[in-house]
Amino acid sequence: MVSEAMLQQTQVTTVIPYFERFMARFPTLPTLAEAGEQDVLLLWQGLGYYSRARNLHRAAGVIVDRHGGRPPRAVEELLQLPGVGRYTAGAIASIAYGVRAPIVDGNVARVLCRLDAIREDPRRPAVREALWRRAEELVPIRRAGDFNSALMELGALVCTPRNPKCQTCPVAACCQSRQAGLVDQIPAPRPVKTRPIIRRWVFAVEQNGRWLMEQRPPTGRWANLWQFVTVPRESELLPPPAAVVATIGIAVKKCRILGSFDHALTHRQYEFTAVRCEVKKVTSNGAAAISIDTARPRRWAMHVELKDLPMSRPQTRVAEMLDDADGQM
Ligand code: SF4
Repeated sequence: MVSEAMLQQTQVTTVIPYFERFMARFPTLPTLAEAGEQDVLLLWQGLGYYSRARNLHRAAGVIVDRHGGRPPRAVEELLQLPGVGRYTAGAIASIAYGVRAPIVDGNVARVLCRLDAIREDPRRPAVREALWRRAEELVPIRRAGDFNSALMELGALVCTPRNPKCQTCPVAACCQSRQAGLVDQIPAPRPVKTRPIIRRWVFAVEQNGRWLMEQRPPTGRWANLWQFVTVPRESELLPPPAAVVATIGIAVKKCRILGSFDHALTHRQYEFTAVRCEVKKVTSNGAAAISIDTARPRRWAMHVELKDLPMSRPQTRVAEMLDDADGQM
């Protein structure tokens, strides 16, 4: 389950060190179920798509509470677990238990489209549904897991997106797109979509050697992760200190832009601009400064404590920019 969750949208080479650390810390489903969400998110930090981590954590709880600590065998029951979709349910059922269940991932979809010379976009729901039905027809009663694994490997190693190795392909004899000379045209290319650009200020606010950190809301992107004070960026110019007070809810001085960087997601692109600044009126414990704003929980953190707070990649990058800036001072 852990590997299936980590491998969604992520390459194997990226996943391996995360998987090893995760399994060393949570070797069984009960240990994962008992862990705090922040510990789980911290081990996931950098992998992205954090809802996978939260769902995996919740699924472990459900499996321990309702299934005696072992994932259920039936696809229908697996689909009831948080974050488990059709692909993951089919993979667990067929590969872990040998249940005759189909799976369709990107590799399998490409192989099936080429075998049957399907020229329509496999991302269209109706085509996707047809591919699931086709996969279900093909999967054998015995060794369903081996069959599914082989089909995925065929897509990953032989029937690759570009330059498929048709000469050595074991199913070349029944491949309709090869016979029709359509291999280069199938599957249909992904329609080009423009991604909206979303701009954010990231204020690294310092007081007495500590950084003001805030926790994101419990739902939405990067839910429950920690970040420097991050707000929409309305203009190119850094607002004057008086305006910053209104923006981030805390009076600051010595604002200095550290730099900007992009962070691309599937459907949108972020541009973050990091600003280092200091609290204007230093308090002995920071409590007054924190309480000025905000619905988001805030706390002060020493620089060494940042590594204990789960953060998204853009936020750890801002922490690195602070390291670099301090190294140059
Ligand atoms: Fe893919 Fe070529 Fe094999 Fe057809 S013959 S399934 S296009 S590798």
